[in-house]
Amino acid sequence: MRPLVWLLWDAASAVLAERFLAEGALPNLAHLAEQGTRAAARPAWPCAQTPPGMATLITGAEASVHGVYGYREAARPRALHSALETETGFDARRLRAEPFWTTAARAGRTVTLVFAPLAAPYDAYARGGVWAPGTGPSILTFDGYGHVLAGQAVHRSSELEKTPEGLRLVLPLAEKPPSVLFKPGPTSVRVEGPEGVAELRERRPAALFLGPTVGVTLVLLALGKDEFTVWRSGIWNVHSSDPEAAEELCQRAGPFLGSGAGHAHREGSLPDPDADYLATLAAEARFFARASAFAVELGADVTVVYEPCIDETGHLFQDLYEQGSERGLALIRESYRLADEHLGAVLERVPEDAIVAIASDHGQQGVRRLFRPNVVLREAGLLATDEAGRIDLDRTKVLYGPAANGFLLVNAEGSLRGIVPRAEVGEVARRAVEVLLAHQDSGGPLLLGAHLAGEVTPSGRVPESDAGDVCLIAAPHVALGTGAVGAAVDVGSGGQHTTAVDVPELDALFLVAGPGVPRLGRLASRIDNADVAPTLARLIGIPRPAHATGRALWDAKI
Ligand SMILES: [Zn+2]
Repeated sequence: MRPLVWLLWDAASAVLAERFLAEGALPNLAHLAEQGTRAAARPAWPCAQTPPGMATLITGAEASVHGVYGYREAARPRALHSALETETGFDARRLRAEPFWTTAARAGRTVTLVFAPLAAPYDAYARGGVWAPGTGPSILTFDGYGHVLAGQAVHRSSELEKTPEGLRLVLPLAEKPPSVLFKPGPTSVRVEGPEGVAELRERRPAALFLGPTVGVTLVLLALGKDEFTVWRSGIWNVHSSDPEAAEELCQRAGPFLGSGAGHAHREGSLPDPDADYLATLAAEARFFARASAFAVELGADVTVVYEPCIDETGHLFQDLYEQGSERGLALIRESYRLADEHLGAVLERVPEDAIVAIASDHGQQGVRRLFRPNVVLREAGLLATDEAGRIDLDRTKVLYGPAANGFLLVNAEGSLRGIVPRAEVGEVARRAVEVLLAHQDSGGPLLLGAHLAGEVTPSGRVPESDAGDVCLIAAPHVALGTGAVGAAVDVGSGGQHTTAVDVPELDALFLVAGPGVPRLGRLASRIDNADVAPTLARLIGIPRPAHATGRALWDAKI
């Protein structure tokens, strides 16, 4: 049986990967590229946010089939909820198409999933779960993102509580909040946690455990004569289908570090923003590299690992990069370099006969304008707000819902606080489309189109009304905002991947190498991300995932 190690590089773009490969900045990716085939891949349509994008990668099915529609989605069934209620799109129980790893386990392969999106909750894969592998081997999963206990923060020593023992910081955990003590010295800051101590030196990350699978990472950003500044990571708990394995992973890799200081960078709270951000990003990449190394050494037939650094960086700087900024380019290049380092740690450990694949769910697209459909709907009398500017469902016929995944919801009778008679849903949807498409500013069209639920278009089939009643296709470089007051159009910034418009930067990266993989280099034509799972299935000799709509790229010569 041929092993597979599959790296999910969130938001890696084919054009940027090619650029950095040509520069010689990604030695491990270059090594792999020489032995295989790579291509630009069309991301999930109509919404290329991470959950639908990853769902298409792992099921080989388009969104109308796999049923995952965004980071957040209209709460289902819509008839039992109001149009303002949302649910996460990261829950494997919402998938309607079989994931690749279930197919693999059904075919008798052992599987380890390390922080892969849609690998949680474990119940979905356990005996009796919706994606349980039947009589196949059980699937070993590790999840961190699903168990966030606290967000990140930047702390200045002057804001900490002075005690005789040192400067005290209470960590914001809901149950029994632990505290840590900081004791500054001339060149470092000693920090004492409930389960250990660490010495903080400038921009060198230090982790403190708060429990066997819970901990925090601290990075000293600045140390002056009288004051210091420290970045405190978010706090997560690692869950696993095997609790002992979760503890082992944390012992090896440290506490889960699911994001760098992107949030603090956006808020403007970092003393030296770019350098500080990159120090935290490196800490994050190295955590994932250690976790992946641990997982690969477990030796499963199929190991799937996740890499987040490129995505976080693209959301911050994609617009700068697209404007030709050297600074934006350097920051994004560094995120690819860190992902490449992570790849290097994996390649050192993969068996000789393994297939290695890298796939991303989408690229990024710079944001130039922010369009608020709800403002236009309000001006057209289709939506009403209260005094605080919040949507008033009792007087609202249609809205761009808080799920922010591209779908308009008609506030139909039958759902909680719905007011539109069922017979008028289609008419309200069409009226909303009319006023939104008519709205223009001097920068060109804001929307390329709008499709009704279930419509078949040249780009694919629009999901049914469980996703929403109308799917908005934003124009390139336009982000859709959910606000209902203020200007309809504002200047936007950063990067996004919501509407899957056809711009090269938004195309994902697919690369596969190893025994039986043709060495075709870079394919001239674009593939579809739905092709990835059927291709990998064929290469390792298992059936294609049960609901896949994509095609295997070539006949594997095994
Ligand atoms: Zn993503």
